[in-house]
Amino acid sequence: MATLIENVRVILTAPEGINLVVVRVDTNQPGLYGLGCATFAYRHLAVKCLVEEYLKPLLVGRDAEAIEELWQLMRQNAYWRNGPIENNAISGVDMALWDIKGKLANMPLYQLFGGKVRAGVPIYRHADGRDLAELCDNIEKYRAQGITHIRCQSGGYGGGRFGAAPATAPSGALDGIYLDSRKYMRDTVALFDGIRGRIGWDVQLCHDVHERLKPIEAIKFACEMERFDLFFLEDAIPLEDGDWLRQLRAKTNIPLAQGELFNHPFEWKTLIAERLIDFIRVHLSQVGGITPARKLQIFAEQFGVRTAWHGPGDMSPMAHAANIHIDLAAPNFGVQEWSGTEPPNFVIQELKGPREALLDVFPGLPEFRDGYVYANDKPGLGVDLDEREAAKYPCENTVTTWTQTRRADGTLQTP
Ligand code: MG
Repeated sequence: MATLIENVRVILTAPEGINLVVVRVDTNQPGLYGLGCATFAYRHLAVKCLVEEYLKPLLVGRDAEAIEELWQLMRQNAYWRNGPIENNAISGVDMALWDIKGKLANMPLYQLFGGKVRAGVPIYRHADGRDLAELCDNIEKYRAQGITHIRCQSGGYGGGRFGAAPATAPSGALDGIYLDSRKYMRDTVALFDGIRGRIGWDVQLCHDVHERLKPIEAIKFACEMERFDLFFLEDAIPLEDGDWLRQLRAKTNIPLAQGELFNHPFEWKTLIAERLIDFIRVHLSQVGGITPARKLQIFAEQFGVRTAWHGPGDMSPMAHAANIHIDLAAPNFGVQEWSGTEPPNFVIQELKGPREALLDVFPGLPEFRDGYVYANDKPGLGVDLDEREAAKYPCENTVTTWTQTRRADGTLQTP
């Protein structure tokens, strides 16, 4: 009997205060359904509308096993393609279809990707601190958990909190997060000097510029950071200034990671084919799910570029699991960003809700143990969703402020 799609719907939940969007695809087989991540935390209602009002009528009655056909169908159905809202909606369905495929095969997804090339996935955690001492304390806490790669930051990527313009801005300048790139570069070089001095050289360190420098500043900064032997420098160049990566590459041997904002294959094709980056870092749901991410991973392998998929808090456990399943089977894996589970009583990130809530809502989340993350061996993604628990944590629709970043004169600058 063919496995046909009977229903497609969206479940919204925010167990940690972050809006998560999950797509559930039901089939005509008793008890057979799939779950996928369509999380666009800051536009969650738009994604829900797209899935339920446009994709559901397109998909109901079709063969749930024809993942590639349905992915192409969804992608071209609105004529215009590759927008972030559209890609997230497609991703939710795509991951759910892969989940169904795994359940039909009675295999975890990594088996469908060719089987494991590693037993567990090395991860990095993000460590923050108000000053060097607090940051080093947090680094040591992570190292005590067996974590070998740590991304370090202090001072909110060169900006403070959202608020009134500083006195140095023009009169009448608007509220925002004001950035000071020269101070940021100075402080960060001093910070890494301090970290290496206190913690030593065994730990692998990363740093995220978050695109908050102009290209010529990024080149200067990367050259200064070279001496700290980073595992990678992340998003040193803004997406729109990608051509500058050639100049950056020519000036520095610092490993470069790029790509959490990418939506369209054109954004990564040249960077990989010309070997302008070392790590590709896309956000799985932003590129349209597992189907395009697997193609990208295999493409990158041909050019010696490794994966370091984006793994922040604003993605659901379905997407964390999808990252891990691809990582387990990818020879060109580099490292995985992890913001999922930790052992009890080991929460150093500032989260709005209790960590346990995430596990109540999403039983089966990949497990973190001693520096590595392990997928469970349940069929498909291996993560379920308890809808009664999910309903306890409604999403909020608020105006996003953290993206309202501004330069010293008050001009908006991409966050
Ligand atoms: Mg980043």
